[in-house]
Amino acid sequence: MLVRVVKMHWMRLLLVTLLLATALVADGEITAHGVRPASAGAHPSASPTATASPSASPPPGVYADRLPRFDKPPPAVRTAAAEDGALPWVARVPTDQRVAFLTIDDGWVKHPEAAELLREAHVPVTLFLTINAISDNPEYFRTLQGLGAVIEAHTITHNKLTGLSYDAQRQEICGSADRLGELYGRRPTLFRPPFGEKDATTLRVARDCGMKAAFFWKESVNQGNVWYQDVKVVQPGDVILMHFRDQFVEDFIGALQGIKRAGLTPARLEDYFS
Ligand SMILES: [Zn+2]
Repeated sequence: MLVRVVKMHWMRLLLVTLLLATALVADGEITAHGVRPASAGAHPSASPTATASPSASPPPGVYADRLPRFDKPPPAVRTAAAEDGALPWVARVPTDQRVAFLTIDDGWVKHPEAAELLREAHVPVTLFLTINAISDNPEYFRTLQGLGAVIEAHTITHNKLTGLSYDAQRQEICGSADRLGELYGRRPTLFRPPFGEKDATTLRVARDCGMKAAFFWKESVNQGNVWYQDVKVVQPGDVILMHFRDQFVEDFIGALQGIKRAGLTPARLEDYFS
């Protein structure tokens, strides 16, 4: 009798332990290195301090009627590094998740409404900034960074890189990453070459400068219109390009509407590359 009671007690203990372990795994995030508990806070969009949380209902703003609303993006699954160590060249992030990525380039035109749009839209964006374009007013982009934008590298001069020597390209890529690190407190880890033009040297230099990936795009936005390359709808993983231009308001809203039409959610590019 006593043996039976003790046995039942142990079985119950085992069952509780199993249930607890299952609950922990369900709460966690599957990573390349195993299961990371959700409480680790290493995932920026899962952090309670993230600025781009669409679940918070913002007060009605100037653009409330024109800006689409999105669900929170699913937890990111990091892209595996190439076995040969080559830098990935990406126009569409390899993912099945229903996400797309909005990237905004250069920085010559500093539209006064960009901050208000970012504040109201609550979406993650990546800014590929050119040093010579931003140096007259780096503070402008610090404001956008404070609203959740992540700043990445796009050379010093915006000159075409293809055909230039290793050292000349290194000056442009490492030089711009170093400068952006000084200005914004975070050294970029992603890179886009001017005009989306690169050669083998560009990718080698970018990797040596500490970049995790370099980017082209699948859609570009101009005058508020989304320009597609093949199919006329944004696909999961697509990288979308727009610029700091006079039509910033139309382009930003147009890009988000394109993502919404496709049934996708904007996600943070940095969450997919480590
Ligand atoms: Zn550019």
